[in-house]
Amino acid sequence: MKNIKAVSLFSGGLDSILATRIVMEQDIDVTAVQFVTPFFHYSILQDIEGYQQKVLDRYGIKVRIEDISRGYMDLLKKPTYGFGKNFNPCVDCKILMLKRAKELMAELGASFLVTGEVLGQRPMSQRRDTLNVIERDSASKTILLRPLSAKLMKETQAERKGWVDRGKLFNFSGRGRSQQIALAREYNITDYPAPAGGCILADPVLSKRIQRLYEGKFAFALDEVGVGDIELMLVGRQLLMPLENGDKEQGVWLVVGRDEGENDRLEALAEEADAVLHMEERPGPMVIVRKASISVSQELLGSVLQTAASLVIRYGRKVDGAMPPAEVVCKVNGETRLLQGVAPEADWFQDWIF
Ligand code: SF4
Repeated sequence: MKNIKAVSLFSGGLDSILATRIVMEQDIDVTAVQFVTPFFHYSILQDIEGYQQKVLDRYGIKVRIEDISRGYMDLLKKPTYGFGKNFNPCVDCKILMLKRAKELMAELGASFLVTGEVLGQRPMSQRRDTLNVIERDSASKTILLRPLSAKLMKETQAERKGWVDRGKLFNFSGRGRSQQIALAREYNITDYPAPAGGCILADPVLSKRIQRLYEGKFAFALDEVGVGDIELMLVGRQLLMPLENGDKEQGVWLVVGRDEGENDRLEALAEEADAVLHMEERPGPMVIVRKASISVSQELLGSVLQTAASLVIRYGRKVDGAMPPAEVVCKVNGETRLLQGVAPEADWFQDWIF
């Protein structure tokens, strides 16, 4: 192996797998770095070693995981290059990742960066002019190699210095995937994820929830919201219950699990200040009232919990087509209360769903 190291930006998608492998094939020691935030790839943090082993076994790639949640949440406040079709700040996202990858480069003694970008593949972030902006703003112009489209671009330092052979790089462009799939076959890579999955900010439904938070139309101000709240925002049915003055923006945040998997997830995401409700006599949702014990006044708490209990019944299993009342167990403020849950007469809360 040549004594040259590189850092590749790894998303887990086919293009980044191939870009990493192309450079590895040229005897370069490549560290793939995968960034995680609550908006993408966050579940990896639950089992980093297991994930690293999977990537190594499947693709022969050693991957390092970097959590950039906090910086990323700040970036979303005002990305210089705006948003794509949804709440996805792709250009700024790539700049942030490249800047962080450059720091890693220094730490690891690496000489250049690698990405799986393909010219013309994405409307916003992979046009030639945008690729130039990304290089310029991340100050990586000469050190950023894009092996899949390199032959359509100017030579980079890695090619000029002979670390990589330009003749063995590619000229892929556009949205088609057939060339990538053929190359994957050459590398014996068959098991790779479908394209363009995995980023919540590009999801038309889920990104709207995040956008609402950033636009100040939420129960809590942005600076009161942490990574755990973002995670909670992505699970189940979400409701903002207006306060008595009708102010939905300042309302109470409730989350209702839609199946057993979501109930388990809610249980894992529940925090000490939350009220957590469920019923035992028949299957039904878990309902969380976020920060109930610190953000809902004592006068209002009783009626908020009663509303949450009615949601447990409303979305619980029916008995002969009806929703009979049932006891609802509510944990709040370190104590357990038993509430009589009664189904609402109509779905008056539909407007609360966001
Ligand atoms: S889709 Fe998401 S992860 Fe990918 S570049 Fe855009 S914002 Fe970043």
